[in-house]
Amino acid sequence: MASASNRRLSSGSAPWDHIFPQCWEQSYPACGGRAQSPVNIATSGPFQATGNLDLFAASTYTSVSGKSVRNTGHGLQVDAVAGDLGSILVEEKKYNVLQFHMHCPSEHTVDGKLLACEMHVVHQKVGATGLNDLLVVGILYESDTSYAENAFLARLGLPSGAPGNGAAAVSIAGSVDLASEYQTVMKSGFYRYDGSLTTPPCTESVSWFVVAGKLQMSQAQVAAFRAMKGSEANNRPVQLLNGRAIFKNTLPGCYVESSKRRLSSGAAWGYVLPQCWALNYPACAGQKQSPIDIDTNAISISIGTMDPSLLKLSHASATGLQYKNTGHGLQVDYTAGGVTYNGALYKTLQFHFHWRSEHTIDGKNYPAEMHVVHQKDGSTGTNDLLVIGVMYEIGAESAFISKLGLPSDGKPFNVSGALTLDDELLPAMANGVYMYSGSLTTPPCSETVTWVVLAKAHTASQAQIDAAKGIYPEPNNNRPTQPLYGRKIGKNMFPGTSTGGSTSGSTSGSTSGSTSGSTSGSATPIVKNEDVSSAFSSRGILARVTALAGLSLAVR
Ligand SMILES: [Zn+2]
Ligand SMILES: [Zn+2]
Repeated sequence: MASASNRRLSSGSAPWDHIFPQCWEQSYPACGGRAQSPVNIATSGPFQATGNLDLFAASTYTSVSGKSVRNTGHGLQVDAVAGDLGSILVEEKKYNVLQFHMHCPSEHTVDGKLLACEMHVVHQKVGATGLNDLLVVGILYESDTSYAENAFLARLGLPSGAPGNGAAAVSIAGSVDLASEYQTVMKSGFYRYDGSLTTPPCTESVSWFVVAGKLQMSQAQVAAFRAMKGSEANNRPVQLLNGRAIFKNTLPGCYVESSKRRLSSGAAWGYVLPQCWALNYPACAGQKQSPIDIDTNAISISIGTMDPSLLKLSHASATGLQYKNTGHGLQVDYTAGGVTYNGALYKTLQFHFHWRSEHTIDGKNYPAEMHVVHQKDGSTGTNDLLVIGVMYEIGAESAFISKLGLPSDGKPFNVSGALTLDDELLPAMANGVYMYSGSLTTPPCSETVTWVVLAKAHTASQAQIDAAKGIYPEPNNNRPTQPLYGRKIGKNMFPGTSTGGSTSGSTSGSTSGSTSGSTSGSATPIVKNEDVSSAFSSRGILARVTALAGLSLAVR
């Protein structure tokens, strides 16, 4: 403490240590601020808002070899070079990884308890300078006598091989891939709050994401880290929250961000905050939204095989096709033939892929889902659509997907030879289809879609899935499943179809207490399913969006 007085205001480079962190403020005034980190996380809340955002889905970390680990004198650190470790996309802003480093014990406490160690993956918004616009993902490690050595930390030199204080950097065997190391734990949820660097200069420019799940490491690894001079206990004590909000599995930004853009139709959208789409695209808050979970135990009406007079495929062979990246998915414009549905021709417009399925079947999410989009002959805009959804699971290589090739560098890929969609679709039709009335799964979310989801999944190889995801600019372009709001699902038959004129009475059920009156429900027969989007009031929308996003902010 005494020695700090002769260092005061020698900004930026004054020495500091973890023995008297309470003295940092004398040389680094920001360390006395009111939005400092770390803090204690109370897992029981209260939280300003709770959501279901998948933090890992927002990341695109990349595998890099030839990295080394160095000792900063305050612990071990691995540096990125020009964003080579990848990035995370939050509120449509990209943050590149700058470096990651470790603290033992942890800095954040959970319910008042320190954990063995905490990794900080430090990101910075692209274009920001200095210490501005940082985003840190904190990952906690626990340790016990029975815990095995953590393989990633072993490659960073724990318990043996790490550079000591003042020693030269040590190269890391193999590659560094934050995605493979942290995918599982990042999917466990997170706590989000605004804070600071936990070391001088304590700049209050950090969006903190403390991951809820914990990884394990051996006690020998903890001991080895703590035996290194300079980082015996390189954790700053927890700081006061001073009224700051903590968000669980959601961001504070949805309401704030969208209020600036509300009703600017055609506004940009992405998959980081799909719960915010409705602020710009009100239909996305409707009650006939897609995708949904298909609960095969709750099919309202089922027949053994599809009646070809209801749905008949007649896709024709097409040549000269291009497989292109639309920015939200990989798509082929394909206009050869279509389907006959309920006596009317629906022409094919295009088909595209979601890398991770949008629909789930009995709660199961598949690695990919293809959507073949059709529109009733003569209809315009987004009216009268019929979409066939096909699930892909990992297995044998898909000859169909392999024929498509892969667009690279943003350039469309020319598909060689002829392609016939029915070669892919028809064999699987024999296993039946699920049908229901829903929406586009992307803005503007128009509720004009007759959905036909094939019951049987096709297969694609892991390499095919990985290759497609690898070039995709947004992680996981799948909208989360939406509530049914009393809608019915039929198998090989459209729900609400009157077989003898008596089944339709039950379809509207409880009408789910909405503001939309009684227009939807049973009034969406086989013939048409348009005009639903006019059924909800603009008053109801914001309330529903607020509920969707879990944002109490919006009500204040
Ligand atoms: Zn740190
Ligand atoms: Zn789609």
